Amino acid sequence: MTTLAQLLAPEGEAFIGGRWTAAVSGGTVASIDPATEDPIASVASCDATDVDAAVAAAWEAARDWGATPWTVRARALRELAGRLRDDAERLAQIDTLDGGNPIAGSRLDVEAAAGALEFAAGLGAQATGRTHPAGPAGLTFTERAPYGVVGRILAYNHPLMFAVQGTAMPLVTGNAVVLKPADPTALSALEVARLSEDLLPAGVLNVVPGAGAVAGAALAAHPRVPRLAFTGSVATGRRVLAAAAPQIKHVTLELGGKNPLVVLAGADPVTAARAAVAGMNLTRTNGQSCQSTSRVLAHESIRRDLQDALVAELEHLVVGPPAETGVDVGPLAFREHYDRVCGHVARAEDEGATLVTGGRRPTGLDRGFYLQPTLFADVDPAMAIAREEVFGPVLALLEWTDTDDMLAVANGTEYGLTANVVGGDLQEALRVARAVDAGMVWVNGPSPRPPGAPFGGVKASGIGREHGEEELLSYTQEKTVIVRL
Ligand code: NAD
Repeated sequence: MTTLAQLLAPEGEAFIGGRWTAAVSGGTVASIDPATEDPIASVASCDATDVDAAVAAAWEAARDWGATPWTVRARALRELAGRLRDDAERLAQIDTLDGGNPIAGSRLDVEAAAGALEFAAGLGAQATGRTHPAGPAGLTFTERAPYGVVGRILAYNHPLMFAVQGTAMPLVTGNAVVLKPADPTALSALEVARLSEDLLPAGVLNVVPGAGAVAGAALAAHPRVPRLAFTGSVATGRRVLAAAAPQIKHVTLELGGKNPLVVLAGADPVTAARAAVAGMNLTRTNGQSCQSTSRVLAHESIRRDLQDALVAELEHLVVGPPAETGVDVGPLAFREHYDRVCGHVARAEDEGATLVTGGRRPTGLDRGFYLQPTLFADVDPAMAIAREEVFGPVLALLEWTDTDDMLAVANGTEYGLTANVVGGDLQEALRVARAVDAGMVWVNGPSPRPPGAPFGGVKASGIGREHGEEELLSYTQEKTVIVRL
């Protein structure tokens, strides 16, 4: 039988310059299994000194890595993809143990990570320059070069998938990376480092876990990190932007959402309810998803039937230990977040929303950060539950009559990450899709994002687009060369 020790990278360490090392301070952060609340392992608690060492190691490696043919870099990414697949079950178990995502969701994450590496490897050839008409006496062309070192700060909800997706494009374009995983779920990022130890030259990939804001803040402010990519909350994104300002770092931000799922008149209530529940990503991340469809805006003609259908769908889900087969929804990832989500539930009740189902700890699960899938109805757009990101298994149902009023509500938050439109005819659905503030809109319910489809937010939900060519190019700088012939 596999033991935990076999599952995990070296205890209490970070990965800097190709070596496993304790934090200089000697500090560690415990990883807690959110299903049992027991500590399972520890990682190094890096601070500014360790981040500085990682940045130095990354610069040391960046020169040769940047000069390596992109095809060779791409081959390393493909090899890493193969290693992830060969080790998929162990990696999925680590994520489920560390973060509480259902095991089926963690398995999908490993496959998505491997796919992201292969996609980036294939896209490497697109980091091209251009030529510009310059007449017979001139030649004007552009070239793309890597930044050198990229700082990558991650959210906790798809631990392995983000660690891999977040490094694939910077690596294939020839950058060295300093990766700061989220402290509640840092284990699998270190596993990625372990799997790439003999594949990537020392210093090309560095992993600096740490408690709270310390390591991330040090990376965001580091004067030798010219390019920063951040995934996390709007509040932290604002701090990262401010920290990056003195050096004018080039920053992309993937931030939060309070995503509307608009149900048009004439929609089938069961289909719409299934779309809303699928859009919550309950069975993948327990509702801790930036793209969760946490605001359901239902036309008045369907609201009552939709509410009943939503209750049926949510009550059908099995909440329990996430490693068990047959469990749909696991615990929230860590204590502080669990308390925060429970606080959102309490506030919604205080503000007068009707708790239709869920909102409590499931019976029989006395330990662990478990919350029943939750639905609030009679939600007013002014309530916090209609405006603030909960990042958990909590849906708010709002009713609308007039399309323009509905759009004003849909667009009435600071967010603009994703949206969904269900029902109606395609023309009407597309009108809503065009009018809604979002970087990505699903029509006719959520479906898998095709590889390469750009993802990112408008308004406070972020800056930049990831997963497609724009992300690839964003890790390069274009230089224009004007030649007089
Ligand atoms: P968070 O903002 O609390 O933390 C994100 C990361 O930032 C962590 O690694 C954290 O250690 C680090 N950090 C904390 N303080 C910092 C500082 N001052 N400077 C630099 N780094 C700092 O977010 P979270 O709780 O890990 O993740 C949930 C949030 O992430 C939600 O808002 C969710 O919507 C968002 N998210 C967005 C996307 C997307 O693609 N748009 C994807 C996943 C999650």
